[in-house]
Amino acid sequence: MLQTVIIGAGVMGVSIARQLNHKGRQIHIIDRSTPRMNASYAAGGMLGAQNEFFEDTPLYRLAMMSRVMMPDTAERLNKETQMDIELQTHGLIKVATAPQYVADVKKQFAFLSQQDHAIYELSPAQLHERFPQCDVHSCAAFKIHDDGQINANLYTQALIQSAIKRPHIHLHLHTEVIQITQTGTHYHIATSRGSFEADELIIAAGAWSGTLLQQLGIELPTQPVKGDVKLIESDYTGLKETIFNMNGCYIVPKKPNRFLIGATSEIDNWSTHNNEANLHWLDVESFNMIPALQQHRVIKTWTGIRPITPSGIPIMGAIQPNLYVSTGHYRNGILLSPIVGELMAQLIDGDTLAEQQLKPFSPLN
Ligand SMILES: Cc1cc2nc3c(=O)[nH]c(=O)nc-3n(C[C@H](O)[C@H](O)[C@H](O)COP(=O)(O)OP(=O)(O)OC[C@H]3O[C@@H](n4cnc5c(N)ncnc54)[C@H](O)[C@@H]3O)c2cc1C
Repeated sequence: MLQTVIIGAGVMGVSIARQLNHKGRQIHIIDRSTPRMNASYAAGGMLGAQNEFFEDTPLYRLAMMSRVMMPDTAERLNKETQMDIELQTHGLIKVATAPQYVADVKKQFAFLSQQDHAIYELSPAQLHERFPQCDVHSCAAFKIHDDGQINANLYTQALIQSAIKRPHIHLHLHTEVIQITQTGTHYHIATSRGSFEADELIIAAGAWSGTLLQQLGIELPTQPVKGDVKLIESDYTGLKETIFNMNGCYIVPKKPNRFLIGATSEIDNWSTHNNEANLHWLDVESFNMIPALQQHRVIKTWTGIRPITPSGIPIMGAIQPNLYVSTGHYRNGILLSPIVGELMAQLIDGDTLAEQQLKPFSPLN
């Protein structure tokens, strides 16, 4: 029986585990489960396949495919776990509320509207109605219909619940990987709760992946990008679509009467504490977009650590015999997880077509 070890029970590790062929394989997912030391539970849940891209790239294509897969993923998870991951499909408005971002909005609109004729620019009247505080002469916005959103926290929990229902998947929480060593093409993983022998090892440890790989003498650095996030409750009922400001602040309407406001981006910051100045920035920018949200009750604030690579492009694929990595999905790991789970699992199972599709992201590039 093949022993497969996955380090990381975030959306990447668990999505891969769910898709791996179970015949003749025992899968162990290991996670230290330290609060706030991950990204998947912290995310805004936007499925921003169009929101995040300005040009046609291999990653954009994967994102578009993954967005299509999410409704089916949500349905399957619901069947398997009875958990509703709150998929919403009201679209997203991309906006520049300050003149210095208007050119970027126009540029992105020019790219996206070539491929999707349903995307439209907001007229001055529509801009004024949606963003009453903006000077319509120095703002710009467009509406994307198909960028939906989910509840990322529930999604991560549902993925885990569905994984552990499979008899060949074993989840080891509160288990920290301390040391990885290699003998030939086998791996020995020493943890805070005993050790594991792996015929196949998959590193899906988010921003910590690079440090773990260093233990094997492999230089594939990953960095953290800390984000502060805030969840509020408001009686305001005038917003169904997500609003994403080119300056990075977004408002994602959640059920019931809630609004997730995110997110700051601080590279090389491992802190798990909210920064008051960052939370203030979220307030100022979100109220500038939707003044009605000034009347609200704060439900909670939190932080998360996004994984990024020096090039900004995720790394996914085989590094050497029986060693694989999937990380660096930065702001798009929730969106990308259905397609990455499928392709990485196929690649590990020897599918050359999947290997071809993941080639632009190979750690060997
Ligand atoms: C504030 C914020 C907002 C975001 N918004 C969105 C969004 O709207 N849409 C979107 O698509 N994406 C979004 N993202 C990005 C997305 O959350 C990430 O890209 C994705 O969750 C990364 O998943 P992962 O499984 O690679 O990493 P993680 O979720 O970080 O999981 C890695 C796991 O590895 C474990 N681990 C690390 N080291 C060890 C060790 N030594 N031993 C044991 N376990 C270890 C950690 O405990 C962790 O659980 C957001 C992220 C943040 C922080």
